Amino acid sequence: MNSFEDSGLSGELLKAISELGFESPMPVQAEVIPYLLGAEGDLIALAQTGTGKTAAFGLPLLQKLDRSSKRTRALVLSPTRELCMQIAGDLRDYSKYLGGVSILAVYGGASIKNQIDALRKGVQIIVATPGRLLDLINRHEIDLSSVDTVVMDEADEMLNMGFLEDIDSILACIPDGHRTLLFSATMPDEIEKLSMKYMR
Ligand code: AMP
Repeated sequence: MNSFEDSGLSGELLKAISELGFESPMPVQAEVIPYLLGAEGDLIALAQTGTGKTAAFGLPLLQKLDRSSKRTRALVLSPTRELCMQIAGDLRDYSKYLGGVSILAVYGGASIKNQIDALRKGVQIIVATPGRLLDLINRHEIDLSSVDTVVMDEADEMLNMGFLEDIDSILACIPDGHRTLLFSATMPDEIEKLSMKYMR
């Protein structure tokens, strides 16, 4: 893929990213976007922060999102509150012209009650830190039974922060047959084990 125009992305998404000043795809986007729009398989991408990985997974995720119901279809796991807010904000920017996309960031250190109120209204894309997400799952405030896409962003960072057990528990709640996209700056043994266990 040499340009966004021949990427297969919809007019609504192209308009939004053009307004954000995206003129040509960054390398990870050129590789990942056509793959995610085409095949149904899982993906592992070695990518650092600042390489454009949010749009690489976010644009195809939004394009393929079933917007006909308010059920949660996609889950993005990220290590920190800041990154969660960043990703949720970026996804909102990209979806500006799609209409009817609900995106929520859930992370620790903020009122859980406000997050629960928002979840009860129905959220299609949840961007979460593992600890808070697991807390909400244990309180039965999150239903992951319709999730078809899981993104693990900065996976190595999540493991460094000790989230492996939480991630294990979260992934156990997600039905078989979903697609997993893993982004990591490095590929230590633990990431390889995680991918062997959960990815096809
Ligand atoms: P990320 O690695 O996803 O955090 O993206 C790094 C920065 O690059 C963000 O500020 C994005 O808005 C910006 N960006 C992503 N893709 C493009 C693109 N194709 N052209 C210009 N800027 C971009």
